Amino acid sequence: MAYNADPTTAALLEKLEWNPMSVKDYVLSDGLLFHQGHILVVTDPDIQHEILLQCHDTLAAGHFGIQKTFKLMSQTYEWPKLRSFVKEYVSTCDTCLWNKTS
Ligand SMILES: [Zn+2]
Repeated sequence: MAYNADPTTAALLEKLEWNPMSVKDYVLSDGLLFHQGHILVVTDPDIQHEILLQCHDTLAAGHFGIQKTFKLMSQTYEWPKLRSFVKEYVSTCDTCLWNKTS
């Protein structure tokens, strides 16, 4: 995760490295930033897209609707505007559109 490329997470990372106790609710583990147990995802559309693809398009995920996909995502991941990202993604998913019309 390229936390250094994102000003918000870069600042957080720096604080955590200096004094982990100074940043409430954030933990650094195995190179990943966690906020209250959720993996903090950087503001990078490519990375966010890849994660959403894993949570929505895989056989196990089975193209759930917006609410369910968001719920699944928010159990593990966190980034600003996650809900609108999921909404946008699911509402333009070809497979979902196809299933609805057939
Ligand atoms: Zn879909």
